[in-house]
Amino acid sequence: MTATLMNGTELAASIRAQVAAEAAELGGACLATVLVGDDAASHVYIERKHAAAREVGIETRDIRLAATTAEDDVVALVEELNADDSVDGMLVQLPLPAGMDEVRVTHAVDPIKDVDGFHPVNAGNLYLGTPLHVPATAWGCMELLEKYEIPVSGADAVVIGRSEIVGKPMALLLLAANATVTVCHSRTRDLADHTRRADIVVAAVGRPGLVVPDMVKPGAAVVDVGINRTEHGLRGDVDPAVAEVAGYLTPVPGGVGPMTIALLLRSTLKAARYRRGLLAFRGS
Ligand code: NAP
Repeated sequence: MTATLMNGTELAASIRAQVAAEAAELGGACLATVLVGDDAASHVYIERKHAAAREVGIETRDIRLAATTAEDDVVALVEELNADDSVDGMLVQLPLPAGMDEVRVTHAVDPIKDVDGFHPVNAGNLYLGTPLHVPATAWGCMELLEKYEIPVSGADAVVIGRSEIVGKPMALLLLAANATVTVCHSRTRDLADHTRRADIVVAAVGRPGLVVPDMVKPGAAVVDVGINRTEHGLRGDVDPAVAEVAGYLTPVPGGVGPMTIALLLRSTLKAARYRRGLLAFRGS
């Protein structure tokens, strides 16, 4: 079998076009980002988010602070953005510099503006099955499954990874879509035993090539969230040879990666709608 590659670049482009049309209809929206410190990858991600937002007609505020900024000052800035009526959505780029309390800073974001979906109000609503803002990467994976008409209801799904950013929200979204979900992690005893039974495998680990062909059921859909910079270039968590066994596979690059920014833009529109009373925000 040769897997159908799930093209995230193409789907992300169509979502961005849709966001552009909706942003114009809404009369615009504004996304503020806060970047603290010198993490090189974070600077690249922030540039990309701003370029993508501008392209769809979302106004942006790009706030960058030195790594030496006091945690209290970062929290004060977040509170200022919470109070700023011209800002619809906001995110604090992670990781924060060593020693800074990420939980305190991300929890300071007003849930209605929390486009990353990391605030406990948003995480809690996802847990309760009443999602408001949802982490963009997991949302992007669900959109890819939907686009390629992968049956989720009743499917056996295995999520490898249990981070707050990807693994847990992914498991909850699959559960909400009526999959039977198993969450695997670094202490899972026999990972292959789980993945071999799965109709859907989502790998969100950060280990290049962790999922190899004999761990995959023939015909399964495999979603590779991993982004690993190796000496051979960018690699996912899934060995590309899995394409010989799987029915569907997201390539790296060009699979989940482009979806994340597209869904972040959609979340910004959602925030603008919540704030204008066009959508009910049941979280506060
Ligand atoms: P993370 O916070 O480091 O979490 C990794 C998870 O993988 C943990 O739950 C860990 O288990 C589990 N794990 C580690 N080794 C394992 C093993 N050998 N077998 C099974 N599970 C194992 O990472 P993350 O933030 O979720 O990101 C995961 C990957 O996705 C990274 O490559 C990241 O770059 C990528 N990513 C991509 C996007 C995108 O837009 N495409 C967005 C976000 C992240 P424990 O909990 O037991 O430690």
